[in-house]
Amino acid sequence: MQRQLQLRLTPEEAYQRAVLRDRIAQELGCQPKDIDGFRVRRRSIDARQRRVMVNLSVDAYVGEPLPQADFEAIHYPDVSQRPQVIVVGAGPGGLFAALRLIELGLRPIVLERGKDVHERKRDLARISREHTIDPESNYAFGEGGAGAYSDGKLFTRSKKRGSVEKILRVFCQHGAPADILIDAHPHIGTDRLPGVIERMRGQIIRSGGEVHFQTKVTGIVREGGKIAGVETDGGAGHWEAEAVVLATGHSARDVYRYLYNNGVPLEAKGIAVGVRLEHPATLIDQIQYHSREGRGRFLPAAEYSFVQQVEGRGVYSFCMCPGGFIVPAASGPEQLVVNGMSPSHRNGAWSNSGMVVEVTPEDLTAQAYALGEADTPAPEGDGADGTLAMLRFQEGLERLTWQQGNRRQTAPAQRMADFVNNRLSYDLPKSSYAPGLLSSPLHFWLPKPITTRLQTAFRAFGRRSHGFLTNEATVIAVETRTSSPVRILRDNETLASPGVSGLFPCGEGAGYAGGIVSAAIDGERCAEAAARYLGAL
Ligand SMILES: Cc1cc2nc3c(=O)[nH]c(=O)nc-3n(C[C@H](O)[C@H](O)[C@H](O)COP(=O)(O)OP(=O)(O)OC[C@H]3O[C@@H](n4cnc5c(N)ncnc54)[C@H](O)[C@@H]3O)c2cc1C
Repeated sequence: MQRQLQLRLTPEEAYQRAVLRDRIAQELGCQPKDIDGFRVRRRSIDARQRRVMVNLSVDAYVGEPLPQADFEAIHYPDVSQRPQVIVVGAGPGGLFAALRLIELGLRPIVLERGKDVHERKRDLARISREHTIDPESNYAFGEGGAGAYSDGKLFTRSKKRGSVEKILRVFCQHGAPADILIDAHPHIGTDRLPGVIERMRGQIIRSGGEVHFQTKVTGIVREGGKIAGVETDGGAGHWEAEAVVLATGHSARDVYRYLYNNGVPLEAKGIAVGVRLEHPATLIDQIQYHSREGRGRFLPAAEYSFVQQVEGRGVYSFCMCPGGFIVPAASGPEQLVVNGMSPSHRNGAWSNSGMVVEVTPEDLTAQAYALGEADTPAPEGDGADGTLAMLRFQEGLERLTWQQGNRRQTAPAQRMADFVNNRLSYDLPKSSYAPGLLSSPLHFWLPKPITTRLQTAFRAFGRRSHGFLTNEATVIAVETRTSSPVRILRDNETLASPGVSGLFPCGEGAGYAGGIVSAAIDGERCAEAAARYLGAL
């Protein structure tokens, strides 16, 4: 007999299997030994009250064996003799597009400008050690895309729960822990992600697809308004296909410029910019779990989420990494950008999040957003109509931050309460940011509309969560890569570019996704659109 139970338990009961079995037996009115097996279906932490509780949804089996698999595995057929589709970019958008193409009986050829996920690691270490950024291999470019060395949070606000579950199952089939199928806020962790990504590549190749690294797409080939292939600066140089999925992410500024200059329809898009905020993890645990003891033995490192409207713009926490690190996430020279990641156990000494303010393309016409010498002048033909204005603002802010950081990857930083009170910090707390911090008056040189909104929001967050606004926390510049500054237009029905039939702009870089799961979902949708276009669906 299978019984479904909804349980509200203490962390000790919820996270220890033997204790959980006793509680299930109690609930069913039987002995623990009578339970043949049980499976947790959903798990969420409720920290709203003083006493933190865990809500579980459990399937228990009595007099009936526990079914073996957590999920049904997807079958990937041999597609070596099938029509090919080029997929540009091996981030979540591109990888999930490739796997979905295989499911649909098409042969993906994945072209990726960066290196494989393990070789890439060496270039990441060099950024912290030598302050040099390889423009083709960094936190944005390389196998796994921007999501490879990340927290691997798989939480999305997307309402399409069905497709979210499919994405999580694909991750599990390639080695991600089954816990991601049950946790309300699932995550994989930067230590486990590379292995998962490598197995996805293995599946693509075993099924007859191809994956080519250090192969940068430099142009598209068109014949009479239709895509006919792409050109690259590595590998064969010229690749033919009747359908191309373009999943190049939001950091491929050269791709945006190429498309703009070659008449592929684009539009400017709003983004959010700000800072990374880093607290001691124990302090966040104490605040969020309402206890001096912090998270204790059983609870995971605490998360938080804040949002506040200030002067007509949203200010919110973004990509929170409990027990994580802040990383230098620039993708080219003369840039300084920070982002966050965490290991699977989230057991680092600090917790960080992006704290960002919405900026619209219209905002940029105000003088208060001017960046002086750091502004990127609009070269001839480069978005003089405003299409690339947001991209140039992002570039300018990253250059300004690099200049303030002594033209290295040393990040300008300020204590949080000092920032809110317009005071220079005489010293800085210890930080997880490996290239080092430099005390700097962020309140003075960041664009005023961003500074003042962050200051107001930090005060509000401090009122909501006692202890959050503190000089033990550090504000670190600058967070700019929250989403794409440009949208590559596509038809709502066919998902193809209205300028080029057979070209499918995909994922975060195209402006239709934000985050690993939504980029993956969009990858699957673009694969299906390409299959329909080729008459294979
Ligand atoms: C440090 C960090 C931590 C993050 N943490 C999380 C998190 O925990 N959870 C979450 O949901 N999101 C997180 N994100 C965001 C997430 O990684 C992105 O939303 C997601 O990766 C977008 O997927 P994508 O496939 O659309 O693009 P990308 O992941 O950016 O992939 C694009 C790929 O295209 C390649 N490419 C670009 N130009 C070319 C070209 N011309 N030719 C060939 N290849 C090209 C790039 O090298 C890259 O591999 C994080 C991002 C960073 C940087």
